[in-house]
Amino acid sequence: MDFLLGQVSGLKGEDGQLSALTLRKEDGDIIDWECDDLLPFFGLTMKLGPIADWGLNLHENLVPTDTEKFETNVPGIFAIGDIITYPGKLKLILSAFHEGALAAQKAHRYIYPEKKLVFQYTTSSTSLQRKLGVA
Ligand SMILES: Cc1cc2nc3c(=O)[nH]c(=O)nc-3n(C[C@H](O)[C@H](O)[C@H](O)COP(=O)(O)OP(=O)(O)OC[C@H]3O[C@@H](n4cnc5c(N)ncnc54)[C@H](O)[C@@H]3O)c2cc1C
Repeated sequence: MDFLLGQVSGLKGEDGQLSALTLRKEDGDIIDWECDDLLPFFGLTMKLGPIADWGLNLHENLVPTDTEKFETNVPGIFAIGDIITYPGKLKLILSAFHEGALAAQKAHRYIYPEKKLVFQYTTSSTSLQRKLGVA
């Protein structure tokens, strides 16, 4: 799958069938990106859907977690982002990154109980940079 960062500025197609998105790329170039469908996810409303039946504690339709590992009341089920609640929670992307990093650390222990977790920085770890395709 190809990835591209850009801002959608137009749609192209005929008879109700999409054929391309017009995109302004980060470098300012405007291109047409061929596609069949567009799935816009703005995420402005939070709906739990079937997750509501997973046995998770809920508080005003939000999922309470701890702030050490962002695990719910069900061991092994983690939650991060706007759907969770804890004292001082800020609904920001910034906060969700922090929550995700801590949840991943604990999830790693569940998945690889015998493996040592090596903490690394993307700025200095060549192996992480290779995984990200930037080394
Ligand atoms: C106008 C606005 C401006 C903002 N600006 C900033 C900013 O400048 N900086 C910043 O840090 N934060 C900003 N935020 C907050 C930021 O957008 C949210 O904190 C962040 O998007 C939360 O990410 P999330 O993944 O938890 O939830 P969302 O982004 O809401 O993603 C949840 C996704 O799950 C999908 N979904 C919902 N229910 C289901 C279901 N039952 N099954 C499957 N999928 C489902 C939704 O469609 C959505 O795509 C802004 C928010 C708003 C509204």
